[in-house]
Amino acid sequence: MNIKSALPATLLSVTFFSLAFAADSQEPEEAHPSKSSSEYLASSDGDLEKLMAAGFQNSLQSSALGSSSADLLSQNTNKIKSTWESLNTELGATDVTYDIILQAGHYNRKTGKTGTTGALVAEKWVTAYLVKNISDHLLSEGKYTVLAISADDYSPHLNAKIFLAIHADGSVKQCTTGPSLSYQDNGSTLAMHAIGWGLSQALGYKYSEFRQDGFTVDAAKYYMYKKLNAPIMKGLLEVGELTCPKREEQLIVGIDAVANNVARALSFVLASTTP
Ligand SMILES: [Zn+2]
Repeated sequence: MNIKSALPATLLSVTFFSLAFAADSQEPEEAHPSKSSSEYLASSDGDLEKLMAAGFQNSLQSSALGSSSADLLSQNTNKIKSTWESLNTELGATDVTYDIILQAGHYNRKTGKTGTTGALVAEKWVTAYLVKNISDHLLSEGKYTVLAISADDYSPHLNAKIFLAIHADGSVKQCTTGPSLSYQDNGSTLAMHAIGWGLSQALGYKYSEFRQDGFTVDAAKYYMYKKLNAPIMKGLLEVGELTCPKREEQLIVGIDAVANNVARALSFVLASTTP
């Protein structure tokens, strides 16, 4: 499907999620927010108008589902598996304000909450692949400083304009959770909508449906939020449920579009908030 995102039809949708538990029965460190926040819903029309007026949609890629999707599924599964160990994470410098800090969920963690696993790929492979490719897209623009960090190894008191952690869900009850973005209060709603729109288009949803069906925003209690400073946004992106075969395939086939679109969203937000 190549579904172009459309303007939202209704704004007052509130979706509820149950907590998603990892397939290995470990309680995940990232909990799905339980409902959309009122500021997120109230900002939808205005922020989407700003994004459309700036031509944001023209920079987005769509999911490549189609006749070649079986080949793409296998090619991309291999790419995701073979790339994850090549992600270069760093501790980061405390006297620098990075434009963006990206965290690959569960990356380099050997014990404890090591992430969920789908039939084809593990969460930590997906998060590393996305962080590497989002970072490469941003660095290729030649104007942003990007720091990639692992789950547990980073300098204390890091500073950035934007912090984004990437995760994927697992659920004991298959196919019960959708992609989501949760953010710490007082972040930029424009950033949320840009990332949400980009993710929905990469995965073949209309953004208006996506927000009602699986995209929620709330103040997540993510462990990293206390550990760094990022005034524009501290966000946690859940890119889909790996334990749901249909969603896992959707994510793998659309993985490069996800990386492109999230990078475009971050770049757009930085460009529009930095004088
Ligand atoms: Zn995770």
